[in-house]
Amino acid sequence: MPGVSRPAGGPGLPQVRRVVSEIPGPRSRELLARQRGLVPAGVGAALPVFVEAAGGGVIVDVDGNSFIDFGSGIAVTTVGNSARAVAKRAAAQLRRFTHTCFLVNPYESYLDVCEKLNELAPIPGERRTVLVNSGAEAVENAVKIARSATGRPGVVVFDHAFHGRTLLTMSLTAKNTPYKQGFGPFAPEVHRAPMAYPYRWPTGPERCAEEAASALADLLDRQVGADNVAAVLIEPIQGEGGFVVPAPGFLGRVAEICRGRGILLIVDEVQSGIARTGRMFACEHEGVRPDLITTAKGLAGGLPLGAVTGRAELMDAVPAGGLGGTFSGNPVACEAALGVFEEIETHGLVDRAREIGDIMLAFLGGLARRCPAVGDVRGRGAMVAVELVEPAGDRLPDPGLAARVARRCHEDGLLVLTAGSYGNVLRFLPPLSITDALLEEGLSVLAEAVGKETDVAVA
Ligand SMILES: *Cc1c(COP(=O)(O)O)cnc(C)c1O
Repeated sequence: MPGVSRPAGGPGLPQVRRVVSEIPGPRSRELLARQRGLVPAGVGAALPVFVEAAGGGVIVDVDGNSFIDFGSGIAVTTVGNSARAVAKRAAAQLRRFTHTCFLVNPYESYLDVCEKLNELAPIPGERRTVLVNSGAEAVENAVKIARSATGRPGVVVFDHAFHGRTLLTMSLTAKNTPYKQGFGPFAPEVHRAPMAYPYRWPTGPERCAEEAASALADLLDRQVGADNVAAVLIEPIQGEGGFVVPAPGFLGRVAEICRGRGILLIVDEVQSGIARTGRMFACEHEGVRPDLITTAKGLAGGLPLGAVTGRAELMDAVPAGGLGGTFSGNPVACEAALGVFEEIETHGLVDRAREIGDIMLAFLGGLARRCPAVGDVRGRGAMVAVELVEPAGDRLPDPGLAARVARRCHEDGLLVLTAGSYGNVLRFLPPLSITDALLEEGLSVLAEAVGKETDVAVA
């Protein structure tokens, strides 16, 4: 807004939902027109309003609309957008130096982040961490480390998996459109097993964990040959695939299957990690102790930082020069990550994620009982989703309904994201800094949108 002073972001931003224009508003539409001449069409936006400020539980756009944030920049601003400790530490680092390259001159904050991750990661024995720039880069490096440590080439991944957009990680990703279409040929030595997806398991949720585990063992032993497999790579709660929480016991069975065959278990916690699910790492809910863990999204409050944390003897298998990169473990991003850990500790955010989950699951469970189009409600902590289906009872995915509900929420001042292999999942990832009042208001906006789009009285 020309002539109007720009609001400061952070936790001091008024925590209100306010819609003052069409969505997107006139100023955002101007900027979108500008974007079309500057940025390729392949870069899309879930809610194309241009942001002016954000903090606590809201995002304020250039037209003065204030949205309740159920997206956290895709599980990134878990501690809030420009949380105090993050902003303070990053700003102080900007005044000291912006970069030296850790491969040229190291600095201490890199070590502090690694020490924190090594201490927190539920990995057996001594641990090491390497820092990178993104989730995809973390997954790529985890695979490099696993191959180097085992001398084996193969990687086994799962249906509905998402691991990134680079050549290797899109090869590991399940969904073709939009992630893979036209981008082949893909990286070799990637094998896919069925995911223990309780809601869609053909013989029902009770048999899901055991049958999916058998299918994995069969793939390893009879199709690929366990000796050819470096690692099994799994998201402990799938992200882009639709917040699929594996059937109870499945992750433990996967860990056992790997252990018995000299295969490493890599848990991709890029979306689910760093307090998001009510534990520091989502695999802790199932008591699983992997060999390697990847993190990124929530790690540095929005500054680009990813990490691989793993058993020391595996991590040390790669010779000097084999890991790292120009920007990897940037000092400003490292300070931001230390700010994230500080925010989590001082505000008890792991417990807060659990509270948010309890509120969301109770509310959405009630919505599902009244509304047959809400086929499944699932998730852990502040990582919760609903799967929308045709009401006839045969669980046919309804991506059109998900898109309409999302659009209606956006127009009513609630940012929600869609997900899922069938595009029929609405996912909710509020920042842990959101107030109960805003969280409940956001859920009411959602229920109203579902009610209006399905002609069911839900209020
Ligand atoms: C987002 C995501 C990635 C990729 O992270 P980028 O930072 O976008 O490269 C990898 N794995 C999972 C589980 C993710 O959710």
